[in-house]
Amino acid sequence: MIAGGGIGGLAAALALAKAGFKARVLERNAAFSEAGAGIQIGPNGVAALRALGVAEALEPKTGQPNDIRVMDAKSGRLLTALPLGNSIAARLGGPYWTAHRADLHAALLDKARREPLIAITTGFEVDRLEATAEGVRVISAGGSAAAGAALIGADGLWSKVRGYVADGVTLKPIGRQAYRAVVPAEAMPAALQDHSTGLWLARGVHCVHYPVRAGREIAVVVIVPASVTDAGWSQAADVTQIEPAVAQFSADLVALLRAAPGWKSWALHDAPPLARWSNGAIALLGDAAHPVLPFLAQGGVLALEDAVVLAAEVRRTPENLPLALEAYAKSRIRRAKRVATASRRNGEIYHLGGAAAFVRNAVLRASPAAQLIGRYDWLYGWTPPSQT
Ligand SMILES: Cc1cc2nc3c(=O)[nH]c(=O)nc-3n(C[C@H](O)[C@H](O)[C@H](O)COP(=O)(O)OP(=O)(O)OC[C@H]3O[C@@H](n4cnc5c(N)ncnc54)[C@H](O)[C@@H]3O)c2cc1C
Repeated sequence: MIAGGGIGGLAAALALAKAGFKARVLERNAAFSEAGAGIQIGPNGVAALRALGVAEALEPKTGQPNDIRVMDAKSGRLLTALPLGNSIAARLGGPYWTAHRADLHAALLDKARREPLIAITTGFEVDRLEATAEGVRVISAGGSAAAGAALIGADGLWSKVRGYVADGVTLKPIGRQAYRAVVPAEAMPAALQDHSTGLWLARGVHCVHYPVRAGREIAVVVIVPASVTDAGWSQAADVTQIEPAVAQFSADLVALLRAAPGWKSWALHDAPPLARWSNGAIALLGDAAHPVLPFLAQGGVLALEDAVVLAAEVRRTPENLPLALEAYAKSRIRRAKRVATASRRNGEIYHLGGAAAFVRNAVLRASPAAQLIGRYDWLYGWTPPSQT
């Protein structure tokens, strides 16, 4: 059983089915809806999607940015252009994609629905778990029950399953709010129509935009300081909430933000790394296992990697699922921790002000761009375990 039919839960079901195991996805929402804006999928995520057999269906809907153009948000000055495109694909074996989250989710869901070994139950909110002689019994908030040999908690940042695996994990608001929107590509100011990912830095604030839907739309995210702490993921928002933080920014960037309709917002939360991801026949995956800040654009990609590794371990020890889940956890914890640390550090660097920002900008301008992006080869160069 898999609690949660998000990116991680569906990927886990697909990976398990590919390895020959039945999976039942229990999703709390009554229907899957088109939610979210963009998601960047580094070469490691594309490698995981290939292993899941989903890459081919998604590829025509992706954006494939040539580079990440890092800009000073106030002056509009280019600080560096980190090469993606053919250069990263040739070096690491996979391209760097950007996608609408709904397209990624739909590609996973479509494949899962066509897979006879996968059953999807919607409207099932996992509420309580019980260990049984055969594995795990799950009781929903509505009182229904389901049972299986194991349970994977892929129920996101606010995971219910996490409490059955690790004690006392408290999510802390980091004092920043994320705003997201999707803009038709025609609304993009001419100066920014360069098929790049744009990363704009200013004191305490940053903005990211990139092409999605084969370049027909642009996903935009703005992170600003805020004291909001609520747990929601899709609060309706308005550009006027961002304007005080971005009013002094480059005119092109402000024009892009003003053109964006239907803003949504949510408060960012962080947590210390979990010491364990599995407990007997229960294991965690995706945001439930490793809440990471979004400043390295890797939370969803890590969930895809988790899924592929989980299935490989289950294939290796199918007769002892607790052992397989423990082996999965052991092989993933260190990498997730490294990503979480690197994300946190990126946030600090992005949000520098004054003299520190001056030094950062000077370093970015002076350093060879290929060297700057090459520092992430440990991350983007991940490859799936052998599937034989
Ligand atoms: C601003 C921002 C930008 C980001 N950008 C990127 C990016 O560019 N690249 C990237 O890789 N990642 C990015 N991420 C991270 C990424 O969104 C998450 O890491 C990813 O969605 C995690 O997937 P998941 O399946 O673990 O959880 P979720 O996507 O949260 O899915 C959890 C699922 O479980 C269901 N559920 C919850 N509780 C229950 C329950 N009790 N019972 C049954 N079902 C339940 C939910 O309805 C949902 O369907 C970003 C995050 C933020 C905040």
